[in-house]
Amino acid sequence: MAIRRVVTYPEEVLVTKALPVTGMDSDIVRLMDDMAETMYVSNGIGLAAPQVGVSLRVLTMDVVPEKKNGKSQLIQIANPVIVEGHGHVVYEEGCLSFPGISAPVSRLSQIYVKAIGRDGNEFVFEADGLAAICLQHEIDHLEGITFIDRLTGLQRRLALREYVKARREENPNYDAAIVR
Ligand code: ZN
Repeated sequence: MAIRRVVTYPEEVLVTKALPVTGMDSDIVRLMDDMAETMYVSNGIGLAAPQVGVSLRVLTMDVVPEKKNGKSQLIQIANPVIVEGHGHVVYEEGCLSFPGISAPVSRLSQIYVKAIGRDGNEFVFEADGLAAICLQHEIDHLEGITFIDRLTGLQRRLALREYVKARREENPNYDAAIVR
């Protein structure tokens, strides 16, 4: 496994619709495992392949990353599709591709997702709570949609202003002109 560089907004791959995985092979498994390792070292609970610069429909998630009772809740899937959804929830979301900011986003509170697992088999699973929120956030990434696109126009502008401020704190020469 290897840690990959996490791409930050507004790099092009984050606003590009990712391609489906056509078959599970060792390259995809390696990508999934690298993404899991990258997610854990970055203290994230979810990561989509475009966030490591790969425009494929692959995501990893672990909403209990501290491995409570020695149990990992790691999910590594390809081609996820929400087949059913219910309810509604608002949660303050962050994103590894937007370091330094968070914003409240409205999501479905319970979803059913069809996907291909690391073993290559298709399966359907149910998610609610933080897992449902995180899955919708990551599946959006596969569409080239980031969480700020789920905000109103004013909220989005404020979030981007905060983002530029945060990036400039880590790098005074950060080019704010690229952020729109
Ligand atoms: Zn994200």
